Amino acid sequence: MQECGQNWEEVKSSLLQARSKDLPYERVLSSMCTYPHPVAIEAHNMFIESNMGDYGLFMGTYELEKQVLGMLGDLLHNSCPYGYLTTGGTESNIQAVRAMINSSQSIKKPNIIVPSSAHFSFDKISNILKIDVRKARILPNLAVDTGHVSSLIDKSTIGLVGIAGSTEFGQVDPISELSKIALDNNIFLHVDAAFGGFVLPFLNEHIPFDFSLPGVTSVAIDPHKMGMSTIPSGALLFREKKMLDSLKVETPYLTINSQFTLTGTRSGASVAATYAVMKHLGKEGYRKIVDRCISLTQLLIKETKSIGLSPVIDPVMNIIALYVPDPRKIREELALNYGWQVSITKEPSSIRLVIMPHMTEETILSFVRDLNIVINQSASSTRLENDKIFVNRTSK
Ligand code: PLP
Repeated sequence: MQECGQNWEEVKSSLLQARSKDLPYERVLSSMCTYPHPVAIEAHNMFIESNMGDYGLFMGTYELEKQVLGMLGDLLHNSCPYGYLTTGGTESNIQAVRAMINSSQSIKKPNIIVPSSAHFSFDKISNILKIDVRKARILPNLAVDTGHVSSLIDKSTIGLVGIAGSTEFGQVDPISELSKIALDNNIFLHVDAAFGGFVLPFLNEHIPFDFSLPGVTSVAIDPHKMGMSTIPSGALLFREKKMLDSLKVETPYLTINSQFTLTGTRSGASVAATYAVMKHLGKEGYRKIVDRCISLTQLLIKETKSIGLSPVIDPVMNIIALYVPDPRKIREELALNYGWQVSITKEPSSIRLVIMPHMTEETILSFVRDLNIVINQSASSTRLENDKIFVNRTSK
């Protein structure tokens, strides 16, 4: 840090320089985040100094948080949820598992069972909480094999995790079956709906995944993904108060006596942003956003089929994985030559596209054009390489 401060113009110019290196979302098909709704941005700025880590000083923001929890509870079929707004899916998942552990003190070496498709936050959980995270197989449709889940349960299993919208493929695990297994074994069931939580309630098809299923004990849902709020905005909801209470620590120097949260200082701006966008859009507004993303997803499927590509699974939500030859190379070429950002999946190997609200019909069509060129070029360069190898071998 330099001794004397710079004037704002100088600082701003460095900021603008840095910002010019950030990618705008228009060609980003790899992210589960998007431009926040303008209402969320305005509310965020209004509450920029609010610290929910000491909400006794910010009772107004705290009331907004309670209202957000109520709205999320309504969306997830829980009329009286216990929870709080987190920094995102990772924190919600950590806290859900921490609550399972704290509520199962008699189990000495506890384990949980998660689908092998679970987000990498569960690898962090295993490391931080020193719990055995067992990975259950997934079926060819990329949803968890509930038979394998059952077979992994033993006397030290304290909970299961189901994914409602897997990160890579957007698949939803059979949460109804997991709910039954959890009830039969008297263990917890956390649903990671970080992405799907703001999609599934607005689809035409009814896919059960939330507190309407009696075995579900907690749900993670992220307003900063399809909820159109600002970053960081996640949420963790419990069915029972005692689970939230199990996270309590005393906070003697604050205006409040205790905290349930993982972080101390916590953004009130995100709380206000989430409140504002949920109030402003209502279910009708979110339904329109999801409808549009699903229509664009279908358009992308139709267009990519017309150039000979097939999806790994029929998309359940606005996430598509496409089989392409050499996905890693295709990803690189798309980024290098056309500025498109796509991600790749591990197993099966494919390119992954998330159709977020910032996508448009034009961007989809122009992406498919570029993808077609990249695939054809890559195929002809591979042919050329093979021909060279053949000529070299035969001329020896
Ligand atoms: N859970 C799922 C299903 C996700 O897709 C993600 C992120 O992509 C997370 C959890 C982690 O969320 P965050 O990055 O907000 O911590």
